[in-house]
Parts: sequence; C-alpha cells; structure tokens
Amino acid sequence: MKAVAVTPGVANSIAMRDVLDPQVGSQDVLVKVAQVGICGTDWEIKAGTYGAAPPESGHLVIGHEGLGIVAEVGGEAEGLAVGDYLVATVRRPCPQDRCLPCRSGQNDMCITGDYSERGIKSLHGYTAEYYGEHPQRLTKIPAELAAVGVLLEPLSVVEKAIRQIFKIQERLPWKPERAVVLGAGAIGLLGALLLRLRGIETHVLDRSEVGGAKSQLISRFGGRHLDTREMPVSQVAEEVGDVDIVLEATGFAPLVFEAAQNLAPNGVLCLLGVSAGAHGVDVESTQFNNRMVLGNRLIFGSVNANLVDFRSGVGHMQQISQQWPGALEAMLSRQTSIDDFQSAFERRPGDIKVAIRMDP
Ligand code: BGC
Repeated sequence: MKAVAVTPGVANSIAMRDVLDPQVGSQDVLVKVAQVGICGTDWEIKAGTYGAAPPESGHLVIGHEGLGIVAEVGGEAEGLAVGDYLVATVRRPCPQDRCLPCRSGQNDMCITGDYSERGIKSLHGYTAEYYGEHPQRLTKIPAELAAVGVLLEPLSVVEKAIRQIFKIQERLPWKPERAVVLGAGAIGLLGALLLRLRGIETHVLDRSEVGGAKSQLISRFGGRHLDTREMPVSQVAEEVGDVDIVLEATGFAPLVFEAAQNLAPNGVLCLLGVSAGAHGVDVESTQFNNRMVLGNRLIFGSVNANLVDFRSGVGHMQQISQQWPGALEAMLSRQTSIDDFQSAFERRPGDIKVAIRMDP
C-alpha cells in the first residue's frame, strides 16, 4: 500500500513508498485513513531533526493526526462498526516497571522517555492507506463532525493542557476571568476556542495583521486578536489587565519569560510549544524569582494527550460547532491529495491546518 515515509535524521528524505499492509491483530480494528493533518512536529521530522524509525525498519511512516474510517473490526470493539469515523491516540506506554504513569494509562506523563509515538518515535504513523490499532486507542467521531475530525488530535493536546491547568489550580479557590494565548496556529486557536467555551475573556497574540483572516476568525468566537508586532508580549497585561491563564503555543523560547510578566497573582503559564534552534535571553532573575514566589505564580509544560482528552475533545467540538458554526472549518485552510503530499509542506499565506487527503 501507499505511504509517506522518511528516513529519520536525513533532511528531506520524505517520499511516497510502497509499504507492507498493516498486520492487524485478532482484537484490532483495521482503519482506512481519510485525512492526516500536518503540524510543526512533521516539519521537524521532514527536516531530519526529530523522529525515530521503528527498530525493525529503516524508515518511518509519518503522520500522527489521522482521521480514519473503520474498515474491519477484529474482536470486540465496543461501539465501533464498519464505516464509523475515528481518530487514534499517538503515544504508547514505555515498558519500564518504574514508570507509574505509563503503568496506569497515563502514557502522556511518561517519566522514562522510552515511550513510542505513532508517526513520530519508533512506530509507524497514519499517512498510509490503512493502519491497524487496538480499539482502546480509538475515539469515535460522530458523522456530523467528520469534516473537522482531523482537528481532534491537536485539540486533544490543548484539552490536556487546560484539564491540567484546572487540576493544578485546585490548590486554591480560583475563577479565571482572563486568558492570553500566544500564537494563532492550530494549537493556539483551538486553545482559545476551549477557553471561550468556558466563558473566559481570551486575547490571542500573533504576528498577523489585525483585521486579517485569523483576526476575523478570532472575533467570530468572541476572542480578541493582538498583533505582536504592535503589542510586545511583556506589555499585554498593561493593555488588557492581569492575566489568569497564559497558553504559550509558539514554541519561541524567549517569549516564555515575557509571557510570565503578564500573570496575575496565582496565575498559570502553560508551555505547549517545542522550540528549535538555540536562543538565549537575559532575564532579570531577581525580579523574575520574586514575582513568581510572591504571587504564587506557576509555569508548567504539557505534552501529548490522554485518551480522556480525545473523548472530551469530541464533546467540545460539538459545542464549538453549535456555538460558532464554521469556526472549526475555517481552521482547515488547505487539503492536498496523497499524490501531491509535498505541497502540504509548503508555507502558503493563510495556512492554519493543512491536511493530506488519502484519496488520490
Ligand atoms: C504531538 C504529540 C507528541 C509531541 C511530541 C506533537 O506534535 O501532537 O502527540 O507527543 O508532538 O512528540
């Protein structure tokens, strides 16, 4: 069958390959892939700076944001039938006994780093005609959400982040009123949508023109867009007021310290972006430390997502579609066919989420 694969560590080795059909266990589901979303991680894998092939293979089939359709149900896959739309989780547990999170189904919190991730680390991904997977790693998507279902994996990443924020903040009586999201890529915009669903005043900062397409999308769901070329990140709180939640979704590391300047007492900064390159900043560390300590402020990182985050994501997608029809669709800016997969890796104006459609 056709698949898009790389030789990990080799820049621009990405190519269409003829690979073996998936081996589907007797309890597994055979999934026909419909679409695969492309994100920054895939760009890094393509550049050869991230990613690992399965031990028995010299190549890695890429793609971890896969929307698929059930083609065959092996054993007992409760609630799944041929023709259903679904999305699979990405990370699989490490084998180590000492990893309590992996031993208790929280692979997204693995402590050893020996986890594997489909399409990223040691397991083939979803940019192939078919894949096989255990039903417990699959989340069904109602047919009316199929057109936007490819957004569920990136949504799960912010579902987890926001779930963790509220869990951590059980440390005090807390009712967040204002949030700032840094970056208006798919992760930033989906995070902003989840914050708006909770009724939180949300400001999205991005290097894009106020009044442009992203701006219009942000106002459509009741958020406010600010252009970082006009509004330095360190000064946002002066403009909008103290911020209870900051989501950092650019991966531009120097912003972390500027972003923290905006936090209200007891506020939380959640870091979601993985950085590339080597950037350094001078930090006035005395002021930084005292501000963190004296205001009970918190900075934490969040990666990947749990099955529960995929499940909650489906419910939130339904709510978003009802409250702001067309908002999710507007994020799916471009689709390419599998035969033209290279163009999914071109940067074009207006791109938010680009997906590869598996049909030629
Ligand atoms: C994926 C996560 C993954 C992370 C690190 C992200 O792009 O969405 O599932 O854990 O990359 O590999």
